[in-house]
Amino acid sequence: MKIVNKCVFLDRDGVLNNDRVDYVYKIDDLIVKNGVSEALKKLKAEGYLLIVITNQSGIDKGIFTELDVNKVHDEIQSRTGRCIDEFYISIFHRTITKSLATKPGSLLFEKAIAKYNIDIANSWMVGDRLRDLEPANKLGIKGILVDNEYHENYPEREAKNLLDAVDRYILN
Ligand SMILES: [Mg+2]
Repeated sequence: MKIVNKCVFLDRDGVLNNDRVDYVYKIDDLIVKNGVSEALKKLKAEGYLLIVITNQSGIDKGIFTELDVNKVHDEIQSRTGRCIDEFYISIFHRTITKSLATKPGSLLFEKAIAKYNIDIANSWMVGDRLRDLEPANKLGIKGILVDNEYHENYPEREAKNLLDAVDRYILN
């Protein structure tokens, strides 16, 4: 029997940490949002894989490097109990390099689904932009819009933040 895994896909900026217009690539600028550590631990305890899919186009623009991003991800892990199974990064900026890896492209979701045998019917995507949710929806994964700072319209499911998304929808 093939083992399938349920998964919560996560956007990074605006979901796990406060977003910044000039990118989060320095540890000093990293502010993990309230309730994130608790939310990730709850999901882990219920057997969810936790996979981050993040656009980091500042790499393509030469503003920072993949090494900087990896350091930020290690810091997120150390502040939240090392619950996240993998970070998938698109390093491309749409005006420089066209790539299906960049959300709303779905390539990184498809890679994760193939690698981890993800059961899409029992999986979720939490993001703060429609471009996070569109590729997930296309693949049959339910979306939740959190922290709707950009005032986008996603009537299917909205929550205040990740912990609210977990309590209101995923583990409800
Ligand atoms: Mg975001």
